[in-house]
Amino acid sequence: MPYTAPVSEFTFLMEHVVGLPRVAGTERFAEATPDMVSAILTEAGRLADEVLAPLNRGGDLHPAHLENGVVRTSPGFADGYRAIAEGGYIGMSADPDYGGLGLPMVLTTAVNEMIGSACLSLQLNPLMTQGQIEALEHHASDDLKALYLPRLTSGEWCGTMNLTEPQAGSDVGALRAKAEENGDGTYAVSGQKIYISWGDNDFTENVCHLVLARLPDGVPGTKGISLFLVPKYIPDADGKPGKANDLKVVSLEHKMGLHGSPTAVMQYDGATGWLVGKPHGGMAAMFTMMNNARLGVGVQGLCQAEAAYQQALDYALERKQGRSPVEGGTGTILDHADVRRMLSEMKAEIFAARAIALANAAAIDMASATGDAAWDARAALLTPVTKAYGTETGIKVAQMGIQVHGGMGFIEETGAAQYLRDVRVTAIYEGTNGIQAMDLVARKMMDGGAA
Ligand SMILES: Cc1cc2nc3c(=O)[nH]c(=O)nc-3n(C[C@H](O)[C@H](O)[C@H](O)COP(=O)(O)OP(=O)(O)OC[C@H]3O[C@@H](n4cnc5c(N)ncnc54)[C@H](O)[C@@H]3O)c2cc1C
Repeated sequence: MPYTAPVSEFTFLMEHVVGLPRVAGTERFAEATPDMVSAILTEAGRLADEVLAPLNRGGDLHPAHLENGVVRTSPGFADGYRAIAEGGYIGMSADPDYGGLGLPMVLTTAVNEMIGSACLSLQLNPLMTQGQIEALEHHASDDLKALYLPRLTSGEWCGTMNLTEPQAGSDVGALRAKAEENGDGTYAVSGQKIYISWGDNDFTENVCHLVLARLPDGVPGTKGISLFLVPKYIPDADGKPGKANDLKVVSLEHKMGLHGSPTAVMQYDGATGWLVGKPHGGMAAMFTMMNNARLGVGVQGLCQAEAAYQQALDYALERKQGRSPVEGGTGTILDHADVRRMLSEMKAEIFAARAIALANAAAIDMASATGDAAWDARAALLTPVTKAYGTETGIKVAQMGIQVHGGMGFIEETGAAQYLRDVRVTAIYEGTNGIQAMDLVARKMMDGGAA
């Protein structure tokens, strides 16, 4: 499915709406000059258009599958992943001390949108890694940072996020996974996690799982949960992937969409893990990853909206049906008022969702560049809004995209239906949109609305 990165839309929003010049005016992000931003957007757009978009349909038709306990990914995904990693896009906003580029989140957010518009199921992999990088930067020991961050940032290794268990979905505090000290500074992590996105793959040297589990003295509920880094292969003395850890992919889910992303049931049987953050401080550490991912998932909704819109517009400009009511019009269904209404609404919703997501990212940048708590509060307030509005926009726009196609929208070959099937989960994972609403009202507005 062809896709053209909307580079000029990003540039307009960044320069005139969300305040990239203010972000670039700080010492921390002084490198983000208009020339540099334009070069990155153009190059990432090329990667999305030419390399990643051609993989999207294959991912849907040939899902990731389990072969003798090994995850086999969709055709071309390994090459697509390498192109993303080699382009430096995984570590764009990561700490330069560990190989990152230290660029603003506002730029990473735009690039993530382009990559996700092109191939959402593949994009979910680096998105999880970006969240893990941020969690480790903030909460891991210096030794863990030195070992893991450069490899995650380069994309040699990738990261996952393990919260959900059969009885613990929205209610994370109900989890039963356990961890016990091994006496050598490591922990033995046991339990089953479900729905783990990119729980394994056949193209990175290692897969690093961030796993929530309870220590023996952990109290029931969220206050007794700790966070552990549990790698698929335990790094040897040289930091190379060594002995296989005691964990496995039990099965992969058969899903409505997002087929290219392997969604795994993971079993941990006394797997060796390292504590990240303080004992029983797991939720705070995991929230760093989840907030990053909530912005990212809001953008996933938005990016499917953009892709669905582009496809619907192309179709509307080709399909002839009925007499054109517009003199000097295109002579296609685009001339019909109802089709224009749908396409205009799709475009307007995308503009709003994109502006919210980029404003959210710009607030994160200003908070980290200035240390001003007001920017932190604004970023925190906007995160559930970005997540819920972006994903609802994705579903609404993909649905309208099908309508613009008429009967062809219901026929899988056009790809219009894939956008709706793929985007549907974004309103569910990373905290359902109902949970986002509760977060907005019960936590983020407790300052009386100041932010
Ligand atoms: C494809 C896919 C990928 C995923 N990837 C990951 C991953 O990588 N890592 C991971 O840990 N998890 C992952 N998940 C799990 C996902 O985050 C959960 O499915 C989600 O948080 C909802 O939990 P649940 O499915 O148990 O639904 P439930 O919690 O059972 O919710 C069911 C319904 O009840 C509502 N509800 C629940 N509690 C409340 C409440 N207190 N107040 C109001 N309404 C409520 C929900 O909003 C929802 O509508 C993934 C899920 C899918 C489908």
